[in-house]
Amino acid sequence: MPARVTGWALKRLLDCERRLWRSEHARGSDAPRGDHGDVLGEKSRTLEDQVAATLPDLVGPVWAPGVPFADAGAETARLLHETTHAIRRPVLMSADGGSSATPAFLLREGAAVVVRDVRLAHHPERSRDSRVRSSFAGWLVREITGLHVTRLEIVNGLGEIVELEPLRDGELQSLVERARELLGDSSEPDLLLAHSHCQDCEHYAHCWDRAEAERRIEVAPSVTRARARLLHDEGIRTFDELAARTPDSFRHRDLRANAFLLQAEARAWSTSRPVWLKAPDLPRGRTPVWFDVEADSDGLRAPVPVYLWGLAVEQPEPRFEPLLAELTPEGDREAWARFVARALEVFDDHPEAVWVHWHDAEPMWLDRYITRLGAPAAFVQRIRAPGACFDLHRALDRAVRLPLRSTSIKFVARWLGFKWSNPDADAAWSTAQAHRARETRDPVERARLLAQVASYNADDLWAMRVVWNWLQEQARAQGS
Ligand code: SF4
Repeated sequence: MPARVTGWALKRLLDCERRLWRSEHARGSDAPRGDHGDVLGEKSRTLEDQVAATLPDLVGPVWAPGVPFADAGAETARLLHETTHAIRRPVLMSADGGSSATPAFLLREGAAVVVRDVRLAHHPERSRDSRVRSSFAGWLVREITGLHVTRLEIVNGLGEIVELEPLRDGELQSLVERARELLGDSSEPDLLLAHSHCQDCEHYAHCWDRAEAERRIEVAPSVTRARARLLHDEGIRTFDELAARTPDSFRHRDLRANAFLLQAEARAWSTSRPVWLKAPDLPRGRTPVWFDVEADSDGLRAPVPVYLWGLAVEQPEPRFEPLLAELTPEGDREAWARFVARALEVFDDHPEAVWVHWHDAEPMWLDRYITRLGAPAAFVQRIRAPGACFDLHRALDRAVRLPLRSTSIKFVARWLGFKWSNPDADAAWSTAQAHRARETRDPVERARLLAQVASYNADDLWAMRVVWNWLQEQARAQGS
């Protein structure tokens, strides 16, 4: 029997058709779920418990450990037919067994039904995936029982109930049919999404290593999906073919307009060497202060948005200074005050200091904290002075194209030989450790988790230093 179309399969379908295909046909090849996924799973269960506590006349969970899925489906149908109880963890299974959904709750309003799900996102109503999954559950309620579904609701991560607009049946039907095809005998979709989308996917290595081995143009960061289609239309499938073309040979105006950068990237890939656009332009005669913050992925909604302010002043010799926040609002204020005081000392000792960061998160957090918690005028004036902060990623991007899937610090510094002490650590991992540290009651465990975060932050600083030194050498070699 072909695999059943579930709400989860529809979510996968919307995320990536190839991911859905592989989830069925290449099971077991998945990379394990990371800490961040576990933390989200725990939070989701807590939110569901909170919602359950507000519902009178609730039965279930119907689908619980040890209960066969089909039995849970039969019990859900019985409860819907014979009672008006609210049901936790129902199983909605179509008569032919080919479709199923497991929303968090089904509520009753007289003879009618309300589907209520939970999502940690603050605006789940804006995501198509939420609409599709809830509509699918509502559609199955109608199919199984003939009962009217009055509303689709979601309790969001703020605990608010929001209503979802149902999908049209025809649209839902097309998605179900496409999912059924992919779960059936179809061949693996020849699809590669953007690197930022793919990097957390369990099939990342499979898709990207294969694409790289096939020398596909899609591995180059500036080849978006739209551009990949244009290039395919012009008969170009590999970066070697792209590198060999002349700019005026492109028919499409987007390709002609961007030929210089596209071909520089293609040449970098084709030769496995950097292709210089111009000599690197780094500030001269200044003292670099390596600067990187660890910020909560919930942003300003988090109780402690920045839980670590990391810096290292290059002279007289670089020394890592992690300014960690106690994970409370008072700790947040106190860490910011310590950071500001230390930054003022650095400016006093090195009036020509330049705060080197990667991308624009650090200036953004400085602005946000100045607004939220305030800072002395001397600090604001000096940190906002022109040239006080320097985006090393932008300097790299203006100077060179590299044979890399991404220009994140992880890719660039690794390519230059730098090794992170924890190769699996990333921003999501860091936030997951901070959340665990906040939740544990064991001070030793909290200190251990935060020490790991600090070590990761230190590595990010030293990675930037490696990139800076490499660009500086190149600038010298190119005589600028
Ligand atoms: S790595 Fe990307 S293209 Fe491959 S299955 Fe995952 S999301 Fe889809």
